[in-house]
Order: sequence, then structure tokens, then C-alpha cells
Amino acid sequence: MEKADIKSYSKAELGVFLKALGEKEFHASQIFRWLHSGVSSFEEMSDLSLSLRGKLNEKTRITCPVILRKQRSGKDGTVKYLWELSDKNSVESVLMSYQHGNSICISTQAGCRMGCAFCASCKNGLARSLEPSEMLDQVIFAQKDENVKISNIVMMGIGEPLDNMSNVIKFLDLINTEGGLFIGHRHISLSTCGLCDEIDILAEKRLQLTLSVSLHAPFNELRSKLMPVNRKYPLELLMRSCKKYFEKTGRRISYEYAMIRGVNDTKACAEKLTKLLKGQNCHVNLILLNRIKESEFLPSSRETVSQFMSILTDNGIKATIRRRLGPDIDASCGQLRRQAIASSEVQTI
Ligand code: SAH
Repeated sequence: MEKADIKSYSKAELGVFLKALGEKEFHASQIFRWLHSGVSSFEEMSDLSLSLRGKLNEKTRITCPVILRKQRSGKDGTVKYLWELSDKNSVESVLMSYQHGNSICISTQAGCRMGCAFCASCKNGLARSLEPSEMLDQVIFAQKDENVKISNIVMMGIGEPLDNMSNVIKFLDLINTEGGLFIGHRHISLSTCGLCDEIDILAEKRLQLTLSVSLHAPFNELRSKLMPVNRKYPLELLMRSCKKYFEKTGRRISYEYAMIRGVNDTKACAEKLTKLLKGQNCHVNLILLNRIKESEFLPSSRETVSQFMSILTDNGIKATIRRRLGPDIDASCGQLRRQAIASSEVQTI
């Protein structure tokens, strides 16, 4: 029988599990603390009896990713990790340091099936979704490896978080538990390509997350070309879900807009975007497209981005141009994993 993934258990589930083993429930807090501090074996849990450690080892396993590659930007110190998971799949994370603290961008799936035309993450399709423990591990082990405290998390790495909804919700619960990393939801952003049904479910949970919505185009025809998800959930439905999300949670939506030269950076696009977002309490993040090998798309010029932003702000839409971190280490979604797959260093299923 396959051993259970113990780090994906909540404290309450650990308690139930311990009881079933004939052990005292109070050990759950000790075990939880050890797991979330990044131990790789039960032997390290020195305040547990040898017999309990033996039982845990017999029935469960501790996930512990291996660093396949690590790159540090010479420009801004951003660190990018390529992790190997226990089944040899790989995912990426990017650790960024800001004045207000350290932030990590984590992956939620190995690969992606959303098929956005400009994104490197989906080019090999979806291998599998990550377990809650595997999302946690990216934070735990980056923190340990760099000897820093991470205070903010963005779920903007490889994968579509809302295509892995139940594990993402579990992760959000685990990371906000005392004794673990204990990072509040206000310090976490979740980025989605716009799965409306799942946005609606998330809204009902009333978590205090920041929801980032990858918009990238204000016209359905263009958005459907860039992002196939728009065929299922066109802009009218997306805007309806976003407004509902704000009403339920009181959290303003952050819209991501990657500027692609001659594609979505025209005056007509800026004007239409203004109309689309009028009256919403939201924020637009303009990002310069990162060039990827697999597509012909180019980033817009800085001048075009400034003009685009002016149209938004002149019309009362809050917008900023996002600073690019780690430009010399391909610090955007999926590029390292793609390179590694291409050079067959890592295996996909
Ligand atoms: N699936 C989620 C989260 C992962 S992608 C989503 O779609 O939001 C994280 C962000 O990076 C998204 O806004 C995505 O559209 C953007 N992105 C992907 N490839 C990019 C590229 N080449 N340049 C700039 N942004 C990109």
C-alpha cells in the first residue's frame, strides 16, 4: 500500500490519524511543527518516542523536493528554483526580495492545460496537479535553502490554481495554521486565467486573498485567440464573477495585462479596457511580455506601455507598470522547466 502524504494532513486530520494508530492526539501539534519546519525524516522528530516515529515511518512519507537547478539574478538577487518532485516531475518557484519582505511565486501544477498562446508553462500540457504538501514545500525549502523568512506568496508560477481547487484550498488552510508557516491570507495572491465557476466557489469561502485575474485582452475575439479559456468563459461572465468576488470578499481584484506588441497594446484596446472595468474597485498591473522561444510575440515598447497606462489612469482606472525581476534568469513561468524537459533532464508523464 502506498504511504500517506503526511504533510498534506491538517492538524485535525493528524489527530484523527494518531488516534487510529492508538496514539495520543496531542502529538499532532509536535508533528505538524516538525513537518512544516522542513525535516526530511521522522528520525529528526527528537521529541517523539522511537515507537511512534517507527509507526509514522511505516505508514506515511515526508515529501522533500530536490533542487535540480538554482539560478540567481546578478541584477536584483531574485532566485529561481527548479524542484524535482518525488515522481521525477518538476516545478519552478521564484524567490524575490522587496523592501517589505521576501515573496515567493509558487507553482500549483506540473504543467498546465489552459493553453495560453504566450505562456511557456502549457507547451507540454498538464502532467499532474500538485498536492498541498508540494505547494508548501516550495515555500519551506526555499526559506530553508536561502535562510530567509518568506512573508508573501503569489500563486502565479506554473499551472492554473483553480484547476487544482481542492488542493489549493487545503494548502491555503495549512499555510495559515499556527505552528506551521502561519502566513495570513492577506499576504497571499492567487492568479487565475478566469475559471468563472471556480472563482464563484472561491468567493463563497470569503478568504482574504488577493485574486489576480489574467485579462490580457478586452475584446472576446482577441482574448479567445490568446487564451482558449475565454471560449468557455467570455468576458461578460468573467466580469460578472469578478464583481461578485469583490462583493463577497471586499477584496479588490487585481487584473494582469501582459503587453504584446501590436496585439493588445493599441489605443482601441486601452479604451475598451477602460469601459470594461469602469466602476469596479480594481487595479490593473501592466506587465511587459516576457519573450519565450515558443512564440513570435514581442513585448510592447516602454512608450506604448506608458501611453496605454495614461488612457487607463486618465479615465480613473488604477494601473501600474510591474517591475520585472530576474530578467537575466528567465524568471517567468515555465521557462526553466521547458528547457529542462527539452534537454530531457527531467521526465514528464
Ligand atoms: N494560470 C494562472 C497563473 C499562472 S500564470 C494565470 O493564468 O493567471 C501567471 C501570470 O503570468 C499570468 O498572468 C500569465 O498570463 C502570465 N504570463 C504567462 N506567460 C507570460 C509571458 N510570456 N509574459 C508575461 N506574462 C506571462
